Order: sequence, then C-alpha cells, then structure tokens
Amino acid sequence: MRATTSTDSCRDLQRLAEGKTKIIYADRRDDGVVLVRTKDDITAGDGARHDVLAGKAALATATTCNVFHLLNEAGLDTHFQHKIDSVTFRAHRAAMVPIEVVVRRIATGSFLRRNPSVAEGTRFRPPLIEYFEKNDQLHDPQIDEDQILRRGLLDAGDMARVKQEALRAFEVLERAWALRDVVLVDFKVEFGRATDGRLLLADVIDNDSWRIWPGGQKEAMKDKQVYRNLQERTPEALSAVLDNYRWVSEKTESFMNTRMGHAVLFRPHQSISHPREEEAWLVHTLFRELHYLGIECTSVQGEDVPAAARSYDADGRPLVGFVIGSHVPWLQESVAFPIVYVEAPQPHDRSVEDACRRAAWQGARVLSVQDPALYGRLLSACRA
Ligand code: C5P
Repeated sequence: MRATTSTDSCRDLQRLAEGKTKIIYADRRDDGVVLVRTKDDITAGDGARHDVLAGKAALATATTCNVFHLLNEAGLDTHFQHKIDSVTFRAHRAAMVPIEVVVRRIATGSFLRRNPSVAEGTRFRPPLIEYFEKNDQLHDPQIDEDQILRRGLLDAGDMARVKQEALRAFEVLERAWALRDVVLVDFKVEFGRATDGRLLLADVIDNDSWRIWPGGQKEAMKDKQVYRNLQERTPEALSAVLDNYRWVSEKTESFMNTRMGHAVLFRPHQSISHPREEEAWLVHTLFRELHYLGIECTSVQGEDVPAAARSYDADGRPLVGFVIGSHVPWLQESVAFPIVYVEAPQPHDRSVEDACRRAAWQGARVLSVQDPALYGRLLSACRA
C-alpha cells in the first residue's frame, strides 16, 4: 500500500495510504482510529489484471463488516469497530505486520504449485498455516517462522499468538460457512499492532480474501478465484463476478444473527442444599466466561418439570437443558433436546463452582455447533 498524506476534500480526513482496493484515512479527532474505505477495483496477479466493478466496494464492505462483527463476537481481538457508510468502516489504527497469513483446510491454489506431489482436495487437519512476506516487487515470497523471528518481524510470543488467532478466525468462519453448506477452503489474514501495543487481526476479510466452495464443489466457487480464472473479461463475465460478490455479501449478512440457542435450567428436586448457588455459577460461566447471551433462567421446579420440559421441545430454537441435582432419567427420555447434568461436586473440586463450570461448558459445546461465535470463545478457552 502506498503511503500518502493528502487531505480528502469531502471530509476533514487525512489520507494515510492507498492500495489497489482501499484507502486508509486517519481521523483527525482521534489518532487511535482509522477509516477504511473500499474501492470498486478488482485486481489479480499483483495488479497485472485490473477492472472496476461498480458496486463492488459496497458489497465488499458489507462482507468485511459482517465477518469482523462475527469475529469480534467470537472474542477475537480485531481492529474492526463499526460500519460508517456503505463503503467505509471505522477501525483501531494499527501498524501492519508485513506478513500475509494463509490458513488452508483444503489443498488447492499456490500450495499445489509449490507441492506438486499433493493431490488437490487433500484435507489438512489441523489446517495448514503458511506465511508470505508482503512485497509486490518480489511477488510476496513465502517465509517461514524462523525467518520471521530472525528478521524481527515478530517476537516468539507474538508469533504464537498470530498462529493461534489466525487459526481460530479460520475455524469460526469455517463453521459459519458450514452452517450455510459452504466449505471455507482457505483464507488470508493480516495482523497489525494497535497504538496500545495489542496485536490485532486487521486489514479486510472479504470475498477477495478466501476461497469458498458451495456444497464443497470447486466448480461452484463464488470467490475472487472466478475473476482470476476468467479467460476473457467480457461485460457478461464481469457482471457474473459481481453477482458472486452480491451473493456472498447477502449470505454473510446472517453471520450477525447466529446467536439463537437457549439454555434452560430445570430443578426437578426441591431438596437440594443450595440450588441458587449452582444456578448462579452456571449463569456466571455461560455469561461471563463464554459471553453466551441466549441463556434463559427459567428454572422449573418439581411437579411442573415434565410439562415445561416438553413445551421447550416445541420451542423451535437450539436448546440445551441443565438439570441441577441428581439424574432424572425420565426427563432425558421424554424430551429430544440435550440435557446436561450438574453433577455433584467431585472430591478434587474446589467447590460447586467447578461442577457448574463443567456443565456450562458441556452445554456450550452442544450449542456451539450452531453458534460460531460461541465456538470461537470455546476454542479460546480450551487452548488457553
Ligand atoms: O494463491 P494461494 O493459494 O496462496 O491463496 C491462498 C488464499 O489466500 C486464497 O484464499 C486467496 O484468495 C488468498 N490470498 C489473498 N491475497 C493474496 C494472496 C492470497 O487474499 N495476496
């Protein structure tokens, strides 16, 4: 990206840098903030191929805002704050680390050229992480972790964080796409250092940044690869590319409302010593540790439990029931949603808190299948 210092005539903003597809402005009122404005340009092959698709900027901005909103919800530290207008978003100012981090679930693209013995479609488990130095003149050469450390681009702690957070971002988006029957094949992300020293997931993540294959079918691809592959850039072909960007922006719109699951607490026994304490710890773990917002604290007691439980079966939302107290097999057998028991504390437990935390996590694991943001928080907690 080219550094410039001119002033935008429409607003009192200082233009910091301009790249092939976006312009970064400093906000004069707050030096910890930038505005990222996307352009209608689409490029490939280090700019050797270039077109302008009217409307692409708005679609790319919508996509990147939807993606970063989800990643923020998943607990990742990102530069994204909020959307300003159809082509601009506001972000924390960050000094970019000059490395592209590519995460791959499926072997394709440049990986195949560099590893011709690997068959296209080979699945990486865990996903493979590669690094490329940002250098247009050298065509972004691959660089390994040792080189990154030796050249002081990152220290060991930050290197580990970049790896962990790029992977977590990938897994969150992979799950979000999987819920829409789309395979996230690979993506590229970048990191930057905020003015307060934090390492943030930065730049944009839009339809130029990944490969996505609806139904897992390569020929159904919707991402920028369609543009890279064009034999002839006819108006019809370019219009079909723009249609793909629109499709992606519309699909990612629903990334914003994945938090649909509910947790309900049942207390079939009234004779437990401190049910309120258990209930409080369950809620605490779900709310505070996992930021799970869908918890419903209707705790149903005694006689009312069977009817109440069955009514939740007809609720239509992903649901996990928590039962505080001893096992009640008839409850488990009479409803279709999963029931997690808050077991009696084990001898090694510090308190009832540990038992509640285990139960809350178990419930969260079930709900996270349909909730990529919750999944991201679980990943972070499990890998801490
Ligand atoms: O070309 P390659 O297979 O290395 O690309 C891996 C992933 O990184 C793809 O999703 C591609 O869209 C993305 N990428 C990118 N910007 C680059 C290079 C790759 O967004 N400069």
